[in-house]
Amino acid sequence: MSKLIQQLTIIGVGLIGGSLARALKKADACGEVVGCGRNEDELKKAQALGVIDRYTLDPAEAVVGADVVLLAVPLSAMRGVMTAIAPAISETTIVTDVGSAKASVVNDAIAVFGKIPDNFLPAHPIAGTEKSGVEASFPELFQNHRVILTPLENSSEVALHSVTAMWQCAGAEVVEMSVEHHDRVLAATSHLPHVLAYALVGTLARMDETDEIFQYAAGGFRDFTRIASSDAQMWHDICLANRKEVLNVLGRFRDDLDALTVAFEANDGKAILDCFSRAKRARDHFSTLTAK
Ligand code: NAP
Repeated sequence: MSKLIQQLTIIGVGLIGGSLARALKKADACGEVVGCGRNEDELKKAQALGVIDRYTLDPAEAVVGADVVLLAVPLSAMRGVMTAIAPAISETTIVTDVGSAKASVVNDAIAVFGKIPDNFLPAHPIAGTEKSGVEASFPELFQNHRVILTPLENSSEVALHSVTAMWQCAGAEVVEMSVEHHDRVLAATSHLPHVLAYALVGTLARMDETDEIFQYAAGGFRDFTRIASSDAQMWHDICLANRKEVLNVLGRFRDDLDALTVAFEANDGKAILDCFSRAKRARDHFSTLTAK
């Protein structure tokens, strides 16, 4: 029986690329998965784990014969990878990515191809963990998570349908939004929390009583800072790629933190309780939405 995808080429067989390969294999949706990266040992590991069927270190060679090419490399590597595959992809090859910021990927594609190719469909799975690499990948990662597609005006229907079907096969709910809207929303919901988690742990790590602070750290600290264990280089790339929107939401947060500081200075219990109560109501509401 014909599969959804005959040959899927994944450039960047790490947590996200590896998890998608595992999910599609589990769903029997893929004929062959070809992996590509810079480190042969990692690719050998991916092959031994059954995540990919074969590999090459050459991106141009990897895309030959692919009906779908997935770019799952860090954002800072996207342009280089696109440049390497540009001469080798056919007009019918569907190219998609998983980058956590979308305007930067679109700009990279325009810089490399002159315009966004009709068959290039930017995407972003809203799923992940603080771990990296193929060994951390697992097939259920996208189950019941959203994947945001950010089609452009000229995006082809075929690309839209294929990429939608691919993510649905991996168990995800597919939604669409504009590139600008995606970057604004994700700056607030994902990029700012990572900036804050890194900043908080950084502040505590520089305090004199660091060892004691970490020794007595309880659930609250763990909940708030888990994501500060995420790969620093990757989040550096993401936050800089979406710098304008991150600065925007960081400014709003700083204003609110300043107001809270003033309330503490003034011993203004009402203002503090108002702030905490508003936040609790919003968080409880969010929990009911995500529990559905
Ligand atoms: P990862 O586990 O570190 O995997 C990245 C992979 O890319 C590695 O296998 C790496 O292998 C490869 N790579 C790096 N530079 C490369 C290059 N120049 N050419 C070819 N391969 C290269 O990272 P990840 O978490 O899967 O993230 C990948 C992408 O997904 C990023 O764009 C990120 O923004 C996005 N994303 C991440 C999450 C998350 O929570 N982790 C969620 C959604 C989207 P080598 O080092 O061997 O080359």
